[in-house]
Amino acid sequence: MSGICSIMGIPFNNMSMTEALGITLIALDERKKTVIFTPNPEMVMAAQKDKEFMEVLKGGDLLIPDGIGIVKASKFYPNPIKERVAGCDLIEEIFSKIKTTVNTVYFLGGAEGVAEKASRKMQRKYRGLSVTGVHHGYFKDNSPEEREIIDEINSLNPEVLLVGLGFPRQEKWIARHKDELNSIIIMGVGGSFDVLSGNTKRAPEFYRNHGLEWFYRLITQPSRFKRMLVLPVFMIRAIGERFGAKIEFKGDKVSIKKLSSDNKKKKKEKKA
Ligand code: UDP
Repeated sequence: MSGICSIMGIPFNNMSMTEALGITLIALDERKKTVIFTPNPEMVMAAQKDKEFMEVLKGGDLLIPDGIGIVKASKFYPNPIKERVAGCDLIEEIFSKIKTTVNTVYFLGGAEGVAEKASRKMQRKYRGLSVTGVHHGYFKDNSPEEREIIDEINSLNPEVLLVGLGFPRQEKWIARHKDELNSIIIMGVGGSFDVLSGNTKRAPEFYRNHGLEWFYRLITQPSRFKRMLVLPVFMIRAIGERFGAKIEFKGDKVSIKKLSSDNKKKKKEKKA
């Protein structure tokens, strides 16, 4: 494994799919609780404004670079990330390995019926895979329903718990409950159940191989357009930060501050 590549405060594990899978399987074998997050550029940007989210992400055991934007931005940083490891692909890799073991999985998240459909599909695709339970993701935090879900998960005792509540909810939820959950691998999976169920189509291989999955998503789900505007902003900010400048966009105004003087100011303020 080749260490950490830290981008805008997020310490990504610089690892290939094979390495990420290896660590997951070892953790399962050694029963070592491991929280996996898969930050993409949108999440990195959200964490700049949401301190709790930033701390929660940093608290993950494995931070996998999901999104070609992270890989491209990392090229300007020391220890550039070797490859994109899509959360959705890692999930399927895990399934293909644990289908022949006693390890079981629970799907939490997505709209009513989606996790169920995903579970049926995955159990057909990976014969022997045992999904012991599913629950949709539209429950209230700190509600009796949430308590029942946690109790159900613990009574079923799945070794792998996939949580797809969208970010930052899923990461914050995992951070809040990981200690009381029995599962060994707890992973934030975003909209993966939508993909695994077949409700959302994954980009064809051409787009994936050319780092254009984001473009496919844009043309097939134009409603995401506004969300995706954050991608170029992320690239500019990530590169700026690498070279010591904090670049911010407010309306049609751009502000550029030198990071070093910022830091000096902060240090002075601390001393005062
Ligand atoms: N979701 C959920 N509960 C919520 C909000 C969202 O289960 O309170 C689910 C939603 O149904 C979808 C996923 O979380 O399956 C978020 O998908 P999105 O494509 O936005 O996530 P991404 O993969 O881009 O992080």
